[in-house]
Amino acid sequence: MLDLLVHNATLPDGRTNMSVAVQGGRIAEVAEGLDAPAREKLDAQGLLLSPHFVDPHFHMDATLSYGLPRVNQSGTLLEGIALWGELKPLLKAEALIERALAYCDWAVAKGLLAIRTHVDTSDASLLAVDALLEVKHRVAPYLDLQLVAFPQDGVLRSPGGVDNLKRALDKGVDVVGGIPHFERTMADGAASVKLLCEIAAERGLPVDMHCDESDDPLSRHIETLAFETQRLGLQGRVTGSHCTSMHSMDNYYVSKLLPLIAEAQVNVIANPLINITLQGRHDTYPKRRGMTRVPELMAAGVNVGFGHDCVMDPWYGMGSGDMLEVAHMGLHVAQMTSQAGIGQCFDAVTGNAARIFGLEGYGLDAGCDASFVLLQARDPVEAIRLRAARLKVFRKGELLAESAPASASLRLSGRPDSTDFMPARKN
Ligand SMILES: [Zn+2]
Repeated sequence: MLDLLVHNATLPDGRTNMSVAVQGGRIAEVAEGLDAPAREKLDAQGLLLSPHFVDPHFHMDATLSYGLPRVNQSGTLLEGIALWGELKPLLKAEALIERALAYCDWAVAKGLLAIRTHVDTSDASLLAVDALLEVKHRVAPYLDLQLVAFPQDGVLRSPGGVDNLKRALDKGVDVVGGIPHFERTMADGAASVKLLCEIAAERGLPVDMHCDESDDPLSRHIETLAFETQRLGLQGRVTGSHCTSMHSMDNYYVSKLLPLIAEAQVNVIANPLINITLQGRHDTYPKRRGMTRVPELMAAGVNVGFGHDCVMDPWYGMGSGDMLEVAHMGLHVAQMTSQAGIGQCFDAVTGNAARIFGLEGYGLDAGCDASFVLLQARDPVEAIRLRAARLKVFRKGELLAESAPASASLRLSGRPDSTDFMPARKN
């Protein structure tokens, strides 16, 4: 007897009338039209069953702090960093934990069951590190949280930066972070990349750096990161986050850079919501979009994920933990409106992000964890268009969250009494 049988589901790859059999928290079988005895059966009614969403880039130590101690008046990156500096001395561990847990509740409700979060290691007290390690422990029964040691003030630029970062890693932080473009000079930035990659190599850890998050066409830290990845044999475990300067780089240089990134198997993360709001702020018109070259990176064979980055924090007052909103923005900013492009945007918040995270047991194949989301949509295109309701969220076979279908009641005589924004399809 199975624990759960989901039947009549559409899968992201387009297969319809699919059944997913669950036993002991794992997917036992995926087959068309399969019927078998199960303790619980769920008729998906032809809707999309997707592996859960994964956010590969977030800042959970700052989330839901919007308005503390004041609102970012200009809405710029630099005022955001300054505001974070004002907030940090006021942070209390308990309040930070409470906000992070509240965000994790939102995430689960949105089918987001794995989050890689950066945690600021600049403060010698490591208060945020301890708090997020506690959060990681508390949410472990329902959400995978991975921590990146992030020296927000610059690992070389801030006194004690290297020591604080190493102490955070000693405490159990999973990934080595960095912010080379925030060091005082390009040379210092490159030196920080080298140093941090060496620390990761020594400790056998992955790397994920904020890389070239500026409009500077000459910012070259992603090149250094790819070079160090190859020099130290870190292929496959290194990620460059943001890489917004690539939007402004010379095309000839980029034609040389993309194959280097691909060869080094460096992942790239774009953060569409944040990149489109924070970059190009010093431009008049035309204004740069700022997001890195997503379709070109993908075409070069680079694994690209989309991150949420911020939700209601000093940098960004919007957001709700909805990775479909992230994919929606990514699709617009990168003009990925081809059918293949839309599918790639969906991949960027599911499978590609899971690869960056290094999640085991991810996917909708036999043997994978039974961690999936039933969406009120019939395919990934519709899911992104509607930021579709998460009707059911399962983790390892356990139902974690349910949402009512989105629909509107109509009061129009002679018309149907409700609509769900899903036009009828002819078979
Ligand atoms: Zn970030």
